[in-house]
Amino acid sequence: MRIVKLFEEKEFVYSFEIFPPKPVYPIDSVYSTIDELSKLKPDFISVTYGAGGSITNNRTAEIASIIKNKYSIEALAHLTCVNSTKEQINHVINDLKEKGIENILALRGDIIEGGEPLGIFKNSQDIIRFAKANSDFGISAASYPEGHMESKDKSIDVEILKLKEEAGADHFVSQVFFDNKYFYELLNKAEQKGVKSPIQAGVMPVVNKKQIERIISLSGCSIPEKFIKIINKYEHDKEALRDAGIAFALDQIVDLISSGVKGVHLYTMNNPYIAKIITNSISSIANNVNSKN
Ligand code: FAD
Repeated sequence: MRIVKLFEEKEFVYSFEIFPPKPVYPIDSVYSTIDELSKLKPDFISVTYGAGGSITNNRTAEIASIIKNKYSIEALAHLTCVNSTKEQINHVINDLKEKGIENILALRGDIIEGGEPLGIFKNSQDIIRFAKANSDFGISAASYPEGHMESKDKSIDVEILKLKEEAGADHFVSQVFFDNKYFYELLNKAEQKGVKSPIQAGVMPVVNKKQIERIISLSGCSIPEKFIKIINKYEHDKEALRDAGIAFALDQIVDLISSGVKGVHLYTMNNPYIAKIITNSISSIANNVNSKN
């Protein structure tokens, strides 16, 4: 089923993101994660497309296939294009079709420092258009509550969101954010621009200091004072920081749901323990929304 259909059928959509193990590790190291996450009954699970992945050994497709065909959970396969040829992207698309995958998250991908992009797919709209012309996939795309790292002016990102929708995207997943006000601003601006597709909030429970430093460097998202206090106080107490990180993410999610947000995408970091605590803690809140159907 296309993800946009899930949004039509449900008041609230709840999903997970996982990433494939690095090529040096066996692929089956992720199987127990999927097994545990499947018990939490998400509406779909997305699988990232690693910069280290290869077109001919596409672990994203293989993992998405297990989610879809073994667990009967809808899978969303990420796909980046900036370093690929049309033939390579076509190869991945055909592989996903053969595996019965119905949804892709179409991305430009990061420009690697010192690496020249091939110049065939220049931005996300190029791959969205290509996927639209060559498949029946539901096409998701990325959105940036605090603006993309390369964008000098945040308002440009809402223009780009509209361009992505016009190119064929019918669902958006947001970059991680720690202050819900940025997500609400994005929703308001998108509505003013006439974006009709659902925008799902990306929430990441941050459970160690290294993780937060990595996220800031990759996404440029800001950290609210409230969260900085938590990190400073508990940075040397692993368990306390984990529990405080989970509590912070829960607080964000409860606020999002009670503000009427249509969907939350949990960046699980392949940690079913954390996903389980969060999912169980919000089950009555999320079910309460869906039982209104
Ligand atoms: P684009 O939409 O092309 O945007 C990139 C930049 O170009 C932005 O600054 C934008 O404003 C600008 N731009 C775009 N179109 C135009 C235009 N028409 N005119 C002028 N400027 C334009 N990366 C991975 O490698 N693997 C993953 O699995 C992955 N999953 C992700 C999932 C989510 C939900 C998100 C938010 C990001 C993910 N990323 C992933 C990171 C992503 O690849 C990077 O953020 C990348 O730099 C941008 O991808 P994009 O599709 O948003 O690019």
